[in-house]
Amino acid sequence: MPAQEPPYLAGLNPPQRDAVLTTDGPVLVLSGAGTGKTRVLITRLAHLIHARKAWPSQVLAVTFTNRAAREMRGRVGELIGAMADDFWLGTFHAIAARMLRRHAELVGLKSNFTILDADDQLRLIKQLIQADGIDEKRWPARMLLSAIERWKDRALRPEQVKSDPAAGLANGAMAKLYADYQARLITLNACDFGDLLAHLIRIFQDHPDVLAEWQQRFHYILVDEYQDTNVAQYLWLRLLAQTRRNLCVVGDEDQSIYGWRGAEIGNILEFSKHFPEAVTIRLEQNYRSTGHILAAASGLIARNQDRLGKTLWTEADAGVPVQVAGVWDGEEEARRIADEIEALQRAGRLLDSIAVLVRAGFQTREFEERFLTIGLAYRVVGGPRFYERQEVRDAVAYLRLVRSPEDDLAFERIVNVPKRGLGDASLRTLTVTARGLGISLMAAASRLIGTDELKPAARKALSNLVEDFNRWRAMADGLAPEELAETLLDESGYTAMWQADKSPDAPGRLENLKELVRALEEFDTLEAFLEHVALVSERAEDTETPQATIMTLHAAKGLEFDCVFLPGWEDGLFPSQRSMDENGTRGLEEERRLAYVGITRARVQAMITYAANRRIHGQWQSALPSRFLEDLPAEHLNRDQTAGMPAAFGGSSWNTRTTPSWGAPRGRAPMLDARATVIDVPHRPVADHAVGARVFHQKFGYGRVSAVEGDKLDIDFETSGRKKVMAGFVTAS
Ligand code: ATP
Ligand code: MG
Repeated sequence: MPAQEPPYLAGLNPPQRDAVLTTDGPVLVLSGAGTGKTRVLITRLAHLIHARKAWPSQVLAVTFTNRAAREMRGRVGELIGAMADDFWLGTFHAIAARMLRRHAELVGLKSNFTILDADDQLRLIKQLIQADGIDEKRWPARMLLSAIERWKDRALRPEQVKSDPAAGLANGAMAKLYADYQARLITLNACDFGDLLAHLIRIFQDHPDVLAEWQQRFHYILVDEYQDTNVAQYLWLRLLAQTRRNLCVVGDEDQSIYGWRGAEIGNILEFSKHFPEAVTIRLEQNYRSTGHILAAASGLIARNQDRLGKTLWTEADAGVPVQVAGVWDGEEEARRIADEIEALQRAGRLLDSIAVLVRAGFQTREFEERFLTIGLAYRVVGGPRFYERQEVRDAVAYLRLVRSPEDDLAFERIVNVPKRGLGDASLRTLTVTARGLGISLMAAASRLIGTDELKPAARKALSNLVEDFNRWRAMADGLAPEELAETLLDESGYTAMWQADKSPDAPGRLENLKELVRALEEFDTLEAFLEHVALVSERAEDTETPQATIMTLHAAKGLEFDCVFLPGWEDGLFPSQRSMDENGTRGLEEERRLAYVGITRARVQAMITYAANRRIHGQWQSALPSRFLEDLPAEHLNRDQTAGMPAAFGGSSWNTRTTPSWGAPRGRAPMLDARATVIDVPHRPVADHAVGARVFHQKFGYGRVSAVEGDKLDIDFETSGRKKVMAGFVTAS
């Protein structure tokens, strides 16, 4: 150690400093959000070099995303200069791929092996399903593929899965399918993402000399977000760290949010069992958030049973309470948040420091539309913008083709989606005919079905498609755009295609399709909608100017923003019904951790909103505020009692009673429609609504109260049946 203390240590608190300076032996830094875990890792990288403990090429640092790796490299670079380029720093996948290329031949691959993407994987598994005579309708390819992936997450090889419950899928043919899939990959000189680690683990186990070489090389190993590692990642790390044992992992069990993708929270909880001599360091001072934000998040996560528990404190001011506001529906939610963002901008905040964090992908649409309408620059991180998503594009292609049969691009996109048995040969005939006659593909299709140029099955399929479009076109003028879209998606089998799909992303795609139908309701004509889509898609990507970020909570892990908006806190949406149905209390606790991740992304202010009405599964539902709102300690909240009310009636912005660092208070645009009179007044005395009372609800009409449970009412509506609604959303009639 140099005599004078290196500058990078300045400013670290004592436990952080310990975490940096305890270089040798296993170290677990287990602590809450924003306590400087990532900062410790970065400083530790710099320290290892500065103290001449190792050369950068002898240090392995693993992060969760490529973006995190880039950022970390940049920040260490500021501390130690160009040497930072030589670290083995990246995601598990990136590092494993680099290592595997050196030993590919040991598992029967060449060093130039291909890494398959999800589409390739699926195509391959489908071929094998057919070859093995498995009924794909009963056992969808994606479902079987995910079973294989989960096995790989647990580092299980085909010969080890025979007694696993998932081996019973496909009438017991799964273990063979897995073996066939692996064999096929080798013939193709390819592997999938899961294989990168699985192959390495196998190589390390079968070739001690190779393992020893890597154990020699890596003097120090560092891992961020350790709570979300899976079993294969743990085994791989353990093998690499076995001899030198200089493994430093940092994480927060309260932020484990990838259980559904194979993450094993036990890895972090049992680190001290796995490495008995490990030093555990806890960081308790949070440097990211204000007092209110931290206390609100801590109160929420304290409701989880399955946790170690920890105390967090901050020297920062209490700041502004977490704002909680009820709104009428998703549209108002988007308008409200956009207004708040504009106020923040006027008060001097940069858009870059503002994020909207959603639970489900479909939620981005309303924000995107609103932001586009008012010209607020935004980016969607971690996924395509709404109208660029595959299923949305497919659906829009159907609509375009109804409006304009000449639209060959749309035709090509959907002609065999869902599969109609129109193979490459038929498509070639179609294209040749169209070119030869100078007509559109649709027109060529109409002609070809009257000839015998196509095989009978293909001719029949094409003829059905042409008939379908003729029918849809004939009905188009008589239907509202959203009704037309529903009919198209239904009758074409497109929705059914995704319903049959058992992959993890299929439910999200179905939600996007429903959201698209909802979007259509806002347009009088199909033309107006298509025009809108064209303009929205045209918007050029501009990364220079500051932009607000829209992203999912999952993608936001590890990041921080000054101002964070958390929309859609309604039971069923967040916590997600699916998670609770599939995993019970465990699912609910993972959802609560996700909520904790969300709130703790905020430095200065956080705003949670919930809508009284949300269209889910194509139907308006009166939504109940998220149960997580009840977990938040009231003294750290500012509940907006008059959400959606015009300013003249006392409608408040979330900053009116708070510090001037917020956007300037301002009135809302007058909105004197009927809605304002019934808008959310949470916790209104329920005595107003006794059992038997006749009430009126803006969306569901008249009904009679049949049960009262706190501030929730069961109401038998005259036209829409029994529903549970918040007392604040009905008026006595
Ligand atoms: P998460 O759990 O969300 O990943 P984390 O524990 O990794 O959070 P960091 O992102 O490393 O926390 O740090 C949170 C913020 O606090 C960062 O802006 C960081 O620069 C700052 N910070 C951390 N430690 C200190 C310190 N000792 N002094 C001042 N600021 C600090
Ligand atoms: Mg971090």
